[in-house]
Amino acid sequence: MARDPACLFCRIVAGTTPAEFLYRDEHTAVLRDVRPQAPFHALVIPVEHVRTLDDLREEHAALVAELVLRAVTLAREHGLAEGYRLVWNCGADAGQSVWHIHLHVLGGRALAWPPG
Ligand code: AMP
Repeated sequence: MARDPACLFCRIVAGTTPAEFLYRDEHTAVLRDVRPQAPFHALVIPVEHVRTLDDLREEHAALVAELVLRAVTLAREHGLAEGYRLVWNCGADAGQSVWHIHLHVLGGRALAWPPG
């Protein structure tokens, strides 16, 4: 499985950099975001290093489904019954700052639209 020792999220899933895990299995992990933008803000990430959404290939289809289903389960488990938002920033213009794909799960308040 691809790993990049220079990547923050690879180091977190490897256990060499600390983080608050809300979930972990063979393919996916959920971290609480260190700079929350809503009362509930978590990141669903693959254990495998995938740099951006642009690096996804057909072979990742099952992994992408796992990430989305994990996010939906997480929202349910954390009581976000009034609604929540899943955000995937891709590239510099979208504000991607960690180059290992991650699905933001935001909820616990009304979220404005359009985003900035
Ligand atoms: P993005 O801007 O979409 O790349 O999102 C990266 C997210 O990672 C931001 O919301 C950061 O607050 C979050 N983040 C950065 N470092 C950590 C960390 N060590 N543990 C958990 N979340 C982090």
